[in-house]
Amino acid sequence: MDATFNNAASEEASSRVLNLFESLDLSRKQLSEFPEKTLPAEESRHHVRKLDLHHNHIGFIPQTIESFANLVELNVSNNGLSHVSEEISTLQCLQAFKAKNNCLDNDSLPKTFDQLHALQYVDLGGNSFTEFPPQLVHLPNMQILYLGSNKIRTLPSSVDSLQRLEVLNLGDNLLESIPEEVGSLHNLTILNLASNRLHSLPKTLIRLGKLKSLSLHSNRLATLPPEIVSIRLEELSLRNNPLVVKFIQSMTYDVPSLLELSGRVIKLAHVPYNSKELPNCLSQYLQSANKCVNPRCKGVFFTAKIEHVKFVDFCGKYKLPLLQYLCSPSCSDKRPWLEGSSDSESETEGYMIEAKRRMKRVLLG
Ligand SMILES: [Zn+2]
Repeated sequence: MDATFNNAASEEASSRVLNLFESLDLSRKQLSEFPEKTLPAEESRHHVRKLDLHHNHIGFIPQTIESFANLVELNVSNNGLSHVSEEISTLQCLQAFKAKNNCLDNDSLPKTFDQLHALQYVDLGGNSFTEFPPQLVHLPNMQILYLGSNKIRTLPSSVDSLQRLEVLNLGDNLLESIPEEVGSLHNLTILNLASNRLHSLPKTLIRLGKLKSLSLHSNRLATLPPEIVSIRLEELSLRNNPLVVKFIQSMTYDVPSLLELSGRVIKLAHVPYNSKELPNCLSQYLQSANKCVNPRCKGVFFTAKIEHVKFVDFCGKYKLPLLQYLCSPSCSDKRPWLEGSSDSESETEGYMIEAKRRMKRVLLG
């Protein structure tokens, strides 16, 4: 499913990046090295805007690359590439660097790769990176970034500097978590996190107001943050996750502290207070109160909470397990309101109806 959606988006973006200009196609020529001899004379290399070398057997991009001073797109995908010479960083017009399905690892890209400030499209999928290449976070014009099918374990929080990013593909890696900062990538429309080792997702994903497609299949997710249903998604894929299928009764609950109990009473009884009378830390604490999700409770909690899984209907076919919190064990005694669709009072219900209307596809199995 994602392939169609992603390809359409990337083609559109690609054609936006690339206009008609002089191109040199040396793809599928059985080349075992960068074709220095067959290339045009140095002075005419300046006219080349697009250089296609994909599907050859080239092991490295040599210093000579600097003679293509006006290159806009370089396609070296499907080679045996393991090294990129630092002269690539002189290509100040380069907007697209396509190097998928090679042998690139953490040491392959030069440190100076972060000087390629015109880059908008980078495809490093199908390589051997175990770290997110740190140079990439310094490329402020990046719109499309493919890093799928590598062995990346963590995503740096500095990823939020890629403020123009529209497509982020991190599928088929070894990610165990996603930093909260991903929620600051306001222009993201496609986020692929499929085939990783994710146990949970940050709540901050709710801030991704332009997100249309979220791929989460083949992870280790048992529940989803309830906020996920308020993202204006058109596609959500969830198959191959250990999503819980029935209500979980084994709850852990720590007895609330005296501070928590006093806070709850102040909130519940609307005891007036103002920040001049209270120490700063206490007023901040009181402001951090969370509403219990049981609509019949009206209670609040601070840190002592009961986890419960609420099932909600999606597209009339699926029930999604959302992780929500209650203020005390007694709140979970009356079960009927927990059963999702019968719960018309729940705050979740309003945006669920809206989400159902928008969501075109939910892929669970
Ligand atoms: Zn409650």
